[in-house]
Amino acid sequence: MSGIVKTEALVLTAYKWRDSSKIVHLFSADHGYLKIIAKGAFRPKSPFRGVLESLNHVELIFSQKPSRGLQLATGVTLLNSFFHIRDDLEKTALGFTVLEIFQKLFPVHEPVAEFFQYTVDLLSALNRKETLPVNLFLWHFLLQLSDTLGFGWQLESCLKCRRSPEAFPLRLDLQNGGYTCRNCGGGESSQGVWLTRPQWESLQALAVADSADLPGFDAGPLAQLRPDPADILLRHLRYHTETPLELKSLKWYM
Ligand SMILES: [Zn+2]
Repeated sequence: MSGIVKTEALVLTAYKWRDSSKIVHLFSADHGYLKIIAKGAFRPKSPFRGVLESLNHVELIFSQKPSRGLQLATGVTLLNSFFHIRDDLEKTALGFTVLEIFQKLFPVHEPVAEFFQYTVDLLSALNRKETLPVNLFLWHFLLQLSDTLGFGWQLESCLKCRRSPEAFPLRLDLQNGGYTCRNCGGGESSQGVWLTRPQWESLQALAVADSADLPGFDAGPLAQLRPDPADILLRHLRYHTETPLELKSLKWYM
């Protein structure tokens, strides 16, 4: 459908086009991945000036023509620039990791309004002045991301027999996003990633936690897990997305 449309969006990346225009990639609530041109964005009186910057949460108005690769921006309002995220190196690294993931995994994905809203809520929860457990926000995001892409983790029961575990530690199956219990052969090798009972409980609790509750979440057992939970969750994603998820922003953590 052609016409003028309005949607909320996160600005992923933007670059200069010709003398004064800007080409911008966004992840939007209602139209999924968008590429737009903002004409005259670098002119002093342009309404786009300073607003179409990476990480900003905006309300965008554009003239839509599905046959066109680039849509034409006609207006924009800044909703949130996430000032306290930008003010902190670790929080910034997480914010830009999220943007990078959208750029790598969502260009041809259908719109996912619920996941868009989840991401805005997560960034809003992270946008607080105090020090926050940024790692937990990343793990939470990666768990929700797997779910949204259709290969979410199954943590309540064994992948094979579907029973709750009786013995610990549990051997994680990174490819299939779950664990195999000992009765099903999950205890024979010392290879692999092992979860203790507290880690298993903590990971399940994290998967269903609300992003607003992350600042008070007890990450203790998971913080002991090796490899790091982010590493585990990313390995699982790589099996399924067939995209090299080498995240530049994530290296800021390491
Ligand atoms: Zn089993």
